[in-house]
Amino acid sequence: MEEKKFCPYCGEKLVGDVRFCGKCGKRITPLSEIAGTGGNVKNTKASWKIIGVLVLIACCIAVGIFLYTHTDNKRILGRWMQVDESGEETGNSLSFNEDGTVLSNGMEGKYEMYNGEIDIYSWTEAQTFEYEFSGNRLILTQEGIDNQSVFVKRE
Ligand SMILES: [Zn+2]
Repeated sequence: MEEKKFCPYCGEKLVGDVRFCGKCGKRITPLSEIAGTGGNVKNTKASWKIIGVLVLIACCIAVGIFLYTHTDNKRILGRWMQVDESGEETGNSLSFNEDGTVLSNGMEGKYEMYNGEIDIYSWTEAQTFEYEFSGNRLILTQEGIDNQSVFVKRE
C-alpha cells in the first residue's frame, strides 16, 4: 500500500517520491531526512553544551584549588611562636619563607604544603603535619600522634 503524502505548504496530494510539490512548487523534504539531520544536529549541539559545562566546572575546580592552596602558602609566611594552653610562648618558633625554606628554632630546613598538610624537613629529618589556620593561630597536628602544636603569628 502506498503511503499517502500531502504538501506541508499547500496541502496538495503528492504522488510518489517527489522532491517538489506539483501545485505550489515548494521543495518537499522527506520525513526520514528531517528526522535524520535534525536529530543529529540537535545531538551534536547538546554534546557540545555538555562538554562546555564540564570544561567550565573543571576550570572552576582548578581555580578554586589554586586559590585555596595559594592563600595558605601566603598565609603561612612569616614568624610563628609556639604557645602553650595558657597562651605563654614556649620558646619554639617557626619562620616560613617564600622560597620554601623554614627556620625551626633558628635551624634552617625546607617545607612543602599540599592538601592541608605540611612537610617540614629540618635537622635531616622530615615530619608531616596536618595544618589548620584559626584566626591568627597556626595549629600543627603531627600525623599518628595525638599532639597539637599551636603557634601565634609574630611578624
Ligand atoms: Zn504544495
